[in-house]
Amino acid sequence: MTDKRKLLEVKGLKKYFAIEKGLFKRVLGYVKAVDGINFDLYEGETLALVGESGCGKTTTARCILRAIDPTEGQILLNANGKIVDVAKLSRKELKPLRSYMQLIFQNPYTSLNPRLKVKEIVGEPLLVNKIAKGKELEQRVAELLEAVGLRPEYMVRYPHAFSGGQRQRIVIARALALRPKLVICDEPVAALDVSIRAQILNLLMELQEKFKLTYIFISHDLSTVQHVSDRVAVMYLGKIVELSDTEELFVSPKHPYTESLLLSVPKPDPNAAGEFKPVEGEVPSPVNPPSGCHFHPRCQYAEEICRKVYPEFRNLADQERPHYVACHFAEKLSLKGVKQL
Ligand code: SF4
Repeated sequence: MTDKRKLLEVKGLKKYFAIEKGLFKRVLGYVKAVDGINFDLYEGETLALVGESGCGKTTTARCILRAIDPTEGQILLNANGKIVDVAKLSRKELKPLRSYMQLIFQNPYTSLNPRLKVKEIVGEPLLVNKIAKGKELEQRVAELLEAVGLRPEYMVRYPHAFSGGQRQRIVIARALALRPKLVICDEPVAALDVSIRAQILNLLMELQEKFKLTYIFISHDLSTVQHVSDRVAVMYLGKIVELSDTEELFVSPKHPYTESLLLSVPKPDPNAAGEFKPVEGEVPSPVNPPSGCHFHPRCQYAEEICRKVYPEFRNLADQERPHYVACHFAEKLSLKGVKQL
């Protein structure tokens, strides 16, 4: 990845939500949804953020898009060769950067306005940003619909006339209207029938190639992640606990939580059924995370130090293909991976 241009650098990102009580909003504590994460994103790659619900994946994405304001940290975006810290920009300064970063929502049934025709939904970003209007706008919408595999004449229809997969294609067309560089896909196929998930994933990969897109792909489904991503960051209680190339992470995980996630995916092969093992225990509260390594109450390899000291997030490989992990015993443990989910 080092020969590629860095598009985004996230440094020490934190997002804490205050828990308030009473008329005077006394602060009782904080939900540490994202708690000091670091990662880079290179042009043209797909970085997956994975982990159980509540691990901070979506909050990370919302901070990057500045849908919410981060509590601390930097989000350095390379915008046409100029590095800007998205975390520090005012709403006004953010406006010209909106076209750089777009979001594909999880649920195409709720993310499309039922009162607007497809032409208005897909064309709205172009109209609002004064990029096209009239005939030119229609032409641009037609091109976008074709790019996502829909017929241009569908632009006069309303969302209810489409299937779930077609609706997600409309969502994708709208997200691409401003020719973004970075697209955050937040569980983009989770709400779809299994039969059409592969079509949408293949479409996303085709569009990545065609429009030179960079993706952050949020998912709890590891088999999907294995199919689409170049690198994977595993999150647990607001922190990244492992980050490496996809194949390396699946075949040779270094963090016990990653091993648990991989073993918790049911295998279609009946001969591999014995390998299936759900992640044990509940995710602890991010308001009051366990001391030391946050994973220690659920970790079969935990020792005394794990209860006291949070492990350093360090690179176990070389700089060319780094493999970061936050576990005291990452070098010693021999964890089970999977070749194919
Ligand atoms: Fe398990 Fe300890 Fe490693 Fe945490 S640091 S993952 S508790 S072995």
